[in-house]
Amino acid sequence: MRKTFQFRIYPGRKQEVVLNRTLSTCRHLYNDSLAERKRQAELNKLRKQFDIFPWGKPEWINKYDQMLDLTASKTPYQKEVFSQVLQDAIKRVDKSFKNFFNGFGYPRFQGRDRYNSFTYPQSGFELKDGKLILSKIGTIKIILHREIEGIIKTCTIKRDIDHWYVSFSCEIDNPVLVEIKTKTGIDVGLIDLITLSNGEQIEPPKFLRKSEDNLIHKQKRLSRKKKGSEKRSKQRIIVAKVHRRIRNQRKDFAHKTSRMLVDNYDLIKFEDLQIKNMVQNHHLAKSISDAGWYQLMNFTEYKAAYAGKFVEFVNPAGTSQTCICGFHVPKKLSERIHRCPSCGLVMGRDHVSAILIENRPSCTVGTTGINDRQGLSIESRCSGTPKPFRVG
Ligand SMILES: [Zn+2]
Repeated sequence: MRKTFQFRIYPGRKQEVVLNRTLSTCRHLYNDSLAERKRQAELNKLRKQFDIFPWGKPEWINKYDQMLDLTASKTPYQKEVFSQVLQDAIKRVDKSFKNFFNGFGYPRFQGRDRYNSFTYPQSGFELKDGKLILSKIGTIKIILHREIEGIIKTCTIKRDIDHWYVSFSCEIDNPVLVEIKTKTGIDVGLIDLITLSNGEQIEPPKFLRKSEDNLIHKQKRLSRKKKGSEKRSKQRIIVAKVHRRIRNQRKDFAHKTSRMLVDNYDLIKFEDLQIKNMVQNHHLAKSISDAGWYQLMNFTEYKAAYAGKFVEFVNPAGTSQTCICGFHVPKKLSERIHRCPSCGLVMGRDHVSAILIENRPSCTVGTTGINDRQGLSIESRCSGTPKPFRVG
């Protein structure tokens, strides 16, 4: 199985210029390859409708055609980039079309702020004497704060505003599966709170709220700045940095919580949020907190996988409206206490939900894991489609 290790790297000024240029070259190639594929797709649609093509029938272009074209005619900029890195940009276009055919959004052109990583898929990189050596770029300082396990397969360089990171995707041995002795069910609340089936509750740290308030404040200032002005672009960077801090704080919280869950339980059950959201109507605040929950579930899932432990997803239907005895106990959202007229149970509503989740069998549809359902595997999280980061 694959495991990812991420480290911060510290390029020099000149190296940063080269890194940025590499990103830009890859992004242009990505957009050009995408444009070509889109044009092909449109021609094919016309062919289906009219079937008149005096210049011959259009055919599908695949990533291999595009890679061959690339090798045949490289621009001066492209010649400065390691060829497998360029090929990987074409592969990303291919992957985004595959995701589209699996029910995800139509591939989009990537702006400067969105396209923020490139990958060495096989070779062209080396770790030596605490330095990272990248072909066509140079030797970069790296802080290896933890040991890398397994065999390094790919190397991805990422930009996060003014910080740079490298992540290695490594092939590690599959762990021995544990015998399930302990299990828990987890209710994720509307408020930023998770409840375990033993009644324990975990709240995100207070500073997170504080940063989020700070973000709203900074965002307001941004919206007052004149469009296209220098002050506005400065404020955009300030806002982006607050975003980054929040992202990192959330991530840190998700890492700690998932670590605690996996250390303490052999089987962890969550509600299937996707089924849940199909039923409920969607608010913005809800979708933001969902993003946090997905991250927590994601982290828990892969940490469990590395430890030979298990994560399951259950159908959430009725978990907030049923008693442990099976009696139907309807409650409004504002009612935080569950009172069962049948068996007399009085308990926090989230606690009851968590117990129900623990005891519910995992659903048969779409339980292969959130990774699959989001069209992203652990592997592609580091090497795949660039994560959007948006400002303003
Ligand atoms: Zn009851």
